[in-house]
Amino acid sequence: MIPYAKQSIDKQDIKEVVSVLKSDMITQGPVVPRFEKLVASYVSSKYAVATNSATSALHIACLSLDLEKNDILWTVGNTFVSSANCGIYCGSSVDFVDINLNTYNICVDSLEEKLILAKKINKLPKILICVHYAGQSPEMKKIYLLKKEFGFKIIEDASHAIGAKYLDKHVGSCQFSDITIFSFHPVKIITTGEGGMALTNKKKLADRMRLLRSHGITRDKKQIIGTLSSEIWNYQQILLGFHYRLTDIQAALGCSQIKKIEKFLNKRRAIAYKYDKSFEKTQFLIPWQDPNTSSSYHLYPLKLKKIKQKKTQKNLYNKLHKLGIGVNLHYIPVYLHPYYQKLGFKRGYCPNTEDFFRKTLSLPIFPDLKLNQQKHVIDCLIKIM
Ligand SMILES: *Cc1c(COP(=O)(O)O)cnc(C)c1O
Repeated sequence: MIPYAKQSIDKQDIKEVVSVLKSDMITQGPVVPRFEKLVASYVSSKYAVATNSATSALHIACLSLDLEKNDILWTVGNTFVSSANCGIYCGSSVDFVDINLNTYNICVDSLEEKLILAKKINKLPKILICVHYAGQSPEMKKIYLLKKEFGFKIIEDASHAIGAKYLDKHVGSCQFSDITIFSFHPVKIITTGEGGMALTNKKKLADRMRLLRSHGITRDKKQIIGTLSSEIWNYQQILLGFHYRLTDIQAALGCSQIKKIEKFLNKRRAIAYKYDKSFEKTQFLIPWQDPNTSSSYHLYPLKLKKIKQKKTQKNLYNKLHKLGIGVNLHYIPVYLHPYYQKLGFKRGYCPNTEDFFRKTLSLPIFPDLKLNQQKHVIDCLIKIM
C-alpha cells in the first residue's frame, strides 16, 4: 500500500536518538532547548516552546491568551479536530468560518461578514485559529487588519506548514499572529514521533506557555511566592498546568530532521509539480497556489470538478485502495463529527467546506515516494476516470 503520507528516517536520525538514549538525561536535558532554538531561528521567531503534540500546544496557546468560559473561538471546519477542540478544552464555545474555494483556507470575506454580524450581537471571538491547509498560508495580512479592527487574537495552526512561506517570510515568524503552532507527527513535514511547538515573539506568552507545559511549576526565584525561595525546596506550582513536555529523545530526532527540511520540501514540491502537470487538463482541479505563498505541500488535495453521482468520490477512494493507493480524506468538516453535531451544528453550515469535503481526495505525497509509485498513482487515476 502506498500511504498518503509517511516519515523519512535515516541513519543519522537514528544515531542522534541513540546518543540521547546513552546519555544521562533522556528527558528535560539540553536537547529540547536546542531543538527549540533551531526551529525558532529557522522561522525567525523570538521564542519557541516544544510540546508533546500540536494539540497540547494549541491548548496552552489558547490558555496563554486567556481563553475562558464564556469566550468564543473561531476556526474553520476544513481542519483536524484539534483546531476546534482546544477551545472546548478551555470551556469556551467554538464556531466555524467557511473556506475560500480557491485556497481551501479561511475565506476572508466570510470572516469579515461574520465579524460584522457578531459585533452587532456582542459575540465577537476572543481567538481566531487560522489553519494553513495542506501547507499553504491563509491571507494573513488581510486577517491581521481585521484583527486590528475587531480586536481578537490570532493563532496560526501551521501543523501542515513548517517550511512554508508567506510574503517571503517563513510561516512561524508570527508577523501577523500572536502564536504559531507546528506538529511533528510522522505524517507532517518533519517528525519527532509525536510532538509539537508553539512559536511567538511575545515573551509573556512564551513564559506562560512554558509554565503551562510543565504542571504550572516554576523554579524562577522572581515568580516564587513567599519565603520558599530561601529554602532548598525551590519550586512551586503557581497555576494549574499540564504535563505536555517533549522528551530529549524526541527532540534529538527533531534536531536531526530539521537539518533536512529543505531537502524534504524540495521533494514534496517536485511531487506536487508532477501531479499538477498530470492533472491540469483533466476532470480534476489541481490545488491553486496564491502567489504570496510558497506551500510546504503537506497534502496534495485533488478535487473533482463535478460529481456525477453522490458516490463518485467514494468509488474513486475504494478503487484506488484496491489498487494499493492509500488516498485519504482531509477533512470531514469538524462540525459534522457527532460530538459537534450534539452541540447543535447542522449539515450545510459551511457550504464551501462541505463541497470541498465531498469532492476531494489527498494523494500520496512524502519525500520517499518513488518515481514509479507516483507514476502508478497518476496512471490509475487517469485510467479510472
Ligand atoms: C496534525 C494536526 C494537528 C494535531 O497535531 P498533533 O501533533 O497530532 O497533535 C492539529 N491541527 C492540524 C491542522 C493538523 O493537521
